Amino acid sequence: MGINRGEVGRANRLIEESDSVVVLSHQNPDGDAFGSVLGLGLMLRGAGLNVKASWPDPVELPLKYEFLPGKELLISPADLRPQGLVIAVDCANAGRLGELEDAVLKVDNIINIDHHPDNSLFGTVNLVDAAASATTEILYEEADDLGLELDRDIAVCLYTGLVTDTGRFQFSNTSAETFRIASELVEMGAEPNRLYEEIFQGDTLSYMRLTGEMVSRAVFEPETGLVHVFMPQEELRRFGVEMNETEDLIDSLRTLRGHRIAALFKEQDDGRIRVSLRSRADTDIGTVARSLGGGGHRVAAGYTSEKGSFEEALQELKGEIVAP
Ligand code: AMP
Ligand code: MN
Ligand code: MN
Repeated sequence: MGINRGEVGRANRLIEESDSVVVLSHQNPDGDAFGSVLGLGLMLRGAGLNVKASWPDPVELPLKYEFLPGKELLISPADLRPQGLVIAVDCANAGRLGELEDAVLKVDNIINIDHHPDNSLFGTVNLVDAAASATTEILYEEADDLGLELDRDIAVCLYTGLVTDTGRFQFSNTSAETFRIASELVEMGAEPNRLYEEIFQGDTLSYMRLTGEMVSRAVFEPETGLVHVFMPQEELRRFGVEMNETEDLIDSLRTLRGHRIAALFKEQDDGRIRVSLRSRADTDIGTVARSLGGGGHRVAAGYTSEKGSFEEALQELKGEIVAP
């Protein structure tokens, strides 16, 4: 699914005709969501638009993303009155906009820029490319045709999306194109080692201890290749870690030899269980997440279980996993 050039032209005209724009991304945002919102927000501001940026609450950057430029564009969803033009980035469907969904679906024009294979094309204009490793890769490729310019701060934002969504250029979505773009972003001033230190060496001691606790309780089932663990709210409180700091926690399960699928069950504030799934390249976990009401990529996906307990949610997941 490549990007339709006509859609790019339409997006370009909408941006040219607008004085203001709201840039949004998905709930439980990750590095690609932050990098896309802030990178695109800065590009649009540079083009003379009045820009507001947000995502479903809490609109805070986790500590390790605080270095990102463009934070001044952020505004709480409660203070946002989207009208005119909205641009959604890294967001597979309108439901992922959480409490912002209803207001967004009422605006005249929505540009949907994303790389999820299950994108619902909810925009009035859709720039969707499932072959892109990150949404920031699409923003880099299309900036020129959208009439937008890059600078060093924007390169830092776009590189952040690339390096996080590709697992530091090692997941199966990493292509020669990804490296080419990364190289150009580095030439523009993104510093790989500084960003590595900020993002991947930016753990608090509380987070490291929570990781240790989680790994120590992980269960591996060699017959299905599933490694799984439940993280109750109480544990977050005990370790003093916020939920929005736990987006990468699952990566600590993925280094296990012989596993096929990693599943992290996180109890939410409201008691529901959000399940993050990751798989090795030969196992499609996106289909599993979709059949349980969620979505995502082939090797990184998620959903929120309707089951009341971890045990039931685990059984539900096992029912959808096809034996190797
Ligand atoms: P996560 O484990 O939350 O980081 O999610 C991994 C991937 O699955 C991301 O690409 C998400 O956009 C996608 N994803 C997670 N939860 C959902 C959901 N409820 N509906 C659709 N896509 C989801
Ligand atoms: Mn994302
Ligand atoms: Mn992404």
